[in-house]
Amino acid sequence: MGSKLQRFERHIDIPEVGLEGQKKLLSGSVLIIGMGGLGCPAALYLAAGGVGRIGFMDDDTVSLSNLQRQVLYDDHDVGVSKVTAAKRKLAAHAPDCVLEEQDARLSPENAAAVITRYDLVLDCSDNFNTRYLVNEFCVRLKKPLVSASVYHHEGQISTFRGWEADKPCYQCLYPKSEKLALAPQCTEDGILGPVTGIFGSMQAAVAMNELMGIGESLAGWMMMFSALTYDSQKVRLKKRASCETCCAMKAPIEDYVNNGANCGTN
Ligand SMILES: [Zn+2]
Repeated sequence: MGSKLQRFERHIDIPEVGLEGQKKLLSGSVLIIGMGGLGCPAALYLAAGGVGRIGFMDDDTVSLSNLQRQVLYDDHDVGVSKVTAAKRKLAAHAPDCVLEEQDARLSPENAAAVITRYDLVLDCSDNFNTRYLVNEFCVRLKKPLVSASVYHHEGQISTFRGWEADKPCYQCLYPKSEKLALAPQCTEDGILGPVTGIFGSMQAAVAMNELMGIGESLAGWMMMFSALTYDSQKVRLKKRASCETCCAMKAPIEDYVNNGANCGTN
């Protein structure tokens, strides 16, 4: 085994992964939206695990109150751009990984150009506007979206493939409403540090399985876990016939990949 592959021998030893699976990781690419509590562990495991190219996007700088859970950063990074600090740490960890930082916030103007360049997207953001935007463009560009969110001691994770006839998108689950816009967000609410580590790491595991084409897909499912009661649950998600993103008759963009024909079965 070459020295480059030796790094991943404990992956290659897994029967479901093997050399073939590791090669898929090495030729794969993932985009991470948001380099906070979820994005830090996700990026670290994806880079260490051999994903060939990782994009990561955030327009924020490191603050002292981030350090309790955003484990890529330390005291010296306070005031520094998150993507700059993250790139330094990730490059030291995985020198062969192509690291593409974007010191920007995802917007309707840049979303298509950024998302189209990757095989798969992780939503590690902390606000509903970004979540809706990521979802909309992932549906349009047919990119699997691995989405997680955390609150206090709890978290949830799902994969969305909303362009498929029987698979829901994020907005099927969370219809846009005034109430949601006022819901608490991670930037302003409490969260136990390790819970972000659990769910960011799960996002990395789900993304790796998607890239390798192994395991049971989390598309159409949501997995929830509480670090207070230690209960976990996996529930089915349905496509919503009135979903404005994956089922709407009036598509927001002309080349929108989906239409009403896929919907209404539920
Ligand atoms: Zn939908």
